[in-house]
Formats: sequence, structure tokens, C-alpha cells
Amino acid sequence: MKPLNPTFAGLGTTIFTVMSQLAQQHGAINLGQGFPDTDGPLALRERAAQALIEGPNQYPPMVGVEALRQALAAHAKRFYDLAYDWRSEVVVTSGGTEALTASIMALVKPGDEVILFEPAYDSYRPIIEAVGGVAKSIPLKAPGWTLNEQALAAAFSPRTKVVLLNSPMNPAGKVFSRAELELLATFLKRFDALAICDEVYEHLTFDGLKHTPLATLPGMYERCVRVGSAGKIFSLTGWKVGWVTGPAALIGAVSKAHQFITFTTAAALQIAVAHGLDNFESYYLTLAKELEGNRDYLSNALSQLGFEPLLAQGTYFLTTDISKLRFNGSDVEFCKHMTEHARVAAIPLSVFFSGDAPQTLVRFAFCKQRSVLEESVRRLSAHFKRN
Ligand code: PMP
Ligand code: GLN
Repeated sequence: MKPLNPTFAGLGTTIFTVMSQLAQQHGAINLGQGFPDTDGPLALRERAAQALIEGPNQYPPMVGVEALRQALAAHAKRFYDLAYDWRSEVVVTSGGTEALTASIMALVKPGDEVILFEPAYDSYRPIIEAVGGVAKSIPLKAPGWTLNEQALAAAFSPRTKVVLLNSPMNPAGKVFSRAELELLATFLKRFDALAICDEVYEHLTFDGLKHTPLATLPGMYERCVRVGSAGKIFSLTGWKVGWVTGPAALIGAVSKAHQFITFTTAAALQIAVAHGLDNFESYYLTLAKELEGNRDYLSNALSQLGFEPLLAQGTYFLTTDISKLRFNGSDVEFCKHMTEHARVAAIPLSVFFSGDAPQTLVRFAFCKQRSVLEESVRRLSAHFKRN
């Protein structure tokens, strides 16, 4: 057989699927893959059901149903004072994953360098490489994951085309500060580069911190495409409704990629998400408060067991250092061991690094009912207090 595309043929299965399968096999509570265990608003699900019955059930417009594009433009204006034209500056996609893929395909050409911050979400690099781009990583360091000027200066080059910025950042739980965004903006201007901003956790920030889109900084609007996901905003991750917003010059190309990846996304789900964005702001603003409480609960409980939790400023995820538990093995082995023997699954962070990866950090998802987190803590206590 002739060689297949090496980017994909040589790739393992994503860690999220691996750990979810292991959790299922061992009857473990799944604090690995990030998905809420409570579905989003009933009114949205009813709206989707109604649309399935009444239609439309044929191909929606390629760039998304009008009501959703209008709701997305209004949402960006309301929260960030970003004025996108819903006709030419918004594309609806099948999830944030497709939004990222379409954006990378549209902006990156063979030989272009793309800067990533590690730990980096696992879908970025394979798509960059599949289109012939060259991923250049900037590893950030726990516990603060701070971005500094030397690291940017070492990574940027005249070939830098795109920076892929994820804030709030999965798996680190970091929210990039205004100062870090300003620093990054300076480099984007100096090297005439673009940014793909993965903002799927835009509303999930804690302790009064607010998400600032890079696109809102001076001179950045023209350089940024912003990726969002209804999965995270409305706790409906299985719906896979996402979008990209940005200046028409960039979105035009993104929509050309999108037209040949999926072309469009289920109309009923788009209609329901538009309804949600227009009418259920209180849902996702309250969700952040609930998640903050869960974060605190899990963080305190894990500290008492000898884990050393880092600060999660946003997202679904709490990263903890496990050094003090004196486990004899890597973070991957630790997560497998914990899934099998304590029956709680988590995600090792080393898989999100390309080079020298830390071996003592693991990620727990806290987007779960409190009773589920409590049962997880009981299981972890029983295991780690005994061992
Ligand atoms: N980006 C990040 C940082 C994510 O964590 C995820 C997954 N939850 C996505 C993108 C993909 O979003 P979606 O599930 O809408 O495809
Ligand atoms: N974003 C989710 C996480 O980080 C996983 C999504 C997926 O499995 N593709 O856990």
C-alpha cells in the first residue's frame, strides 16, 4: 500500500476518547473529557425539537441560518463592542473543532509558521501540519503559565503567519491578562501576522475576571478570527454548533474552507442556539458562578488529599500537581492507575506538549453535578489515604 497521509495515519486516538473508554471499562467517574453532566436549558431543546418537526429540514444556508448569524453579531457587540456584519463576517460551523479547522485551512499555506502556546488543545497541531504549516510551540510554565517577551521574540520570525491563541485556555485554566495580550499584539503588528483566537470558554471565567478578546485591542480587529462554541455556552457539547467571526477579508476565505468541510450544520440546532443567545444570557452567566463553586470544592478537597491544585481562572478544568503523591510513573500512567484503581478518570497534561513535557500535572473536569464531584472525592480519599 502506498503511504497514507502521515499526519493522520501516524496519529494515536485523542486522549479524550482514550480516557473516556478506560473510564467506562472500569466504571470510573469521568472527570477526564470535558462535558457537563447536566444538559443546557430545556427551552433550547424544545426549540430544537419543534424545529425538527416543523422544519426547515433541508440544507440551511452554507454560512449559517440568518437568525443565528444575527444573534452572533449582536452577542459580539453586546459583550465586547465588536461590530461584525452578520452577512459577511460570521460563519456557523459544526462545532469549534470545525471552526478551528476551517480557519487554519483558510489562513495557513504550506511553509507558513504557526505559533502555539503549550499546553495546547490537541486538535491544533495535526490540522496545521496537514495543510503544510509549521507549528512552533511556546511552552508556558506552571503554575502561572505566564507569557513573556523573550519567548515571543524567540518564536516569531518573518515566516510567522498565524498565532493560535486559546483564552480561557484548555487545559491550563488560564485567562491571558491584558498585558500579555498587548505584548502579543505588538508582535502580531511587528511581524504582520494573524491570530486564530479559540474563545470557546469565553463566558466561563471566575473570580470576577472577564474574558478580553484579542480582537478588541487596538489594530487587532483586522488580524483576528474568533472561534466560539454553543456547546460550552449552553452545556450542549453534543450539538456541535460553533462559529467563526472576523473581518470579511478573512471570513470570506474561512467560509470557502467550511463549504467543503461540512458545508452546513443542522438547521434545528442553529435555530435553537439563536434563540438561546437572544434570550438565555442568564443561563451562561449563572453557569460560570456554579462552575466557580465546583472549582473551589474540588480544589480544596484535592489539596487535602495531597494534590497541589493550580489556580483555574476559567474553563471546565482544574490542573493539579501530583508530585507530593509520590506516584512512581508518568502522568499518563498516573491517570490510568487512578482510573482503574480509584475509579476516577482525569487527563494527563503531558499529551498537550510537543517537547519537554511536565510529567506531574493532571487535569480534572469540574463541570459536573456536585454530588458527582463528592463521590469522586470519596473514591479518591479511599484510594489515596490507603496508599
Ligand atoms: N477548543 C477548545 C479549547 C476546546 O476545549 C474544545 C472542546 N471542547 C474545542 C475547541 C472544540 O469545541 P467543539 O466541541 O464545539 O467542537
Ligand atoms: N474539549 C474537550 C476537553 O478538553 C474534549 C472534546 C473532545 O473530546 N473532542 O475535554
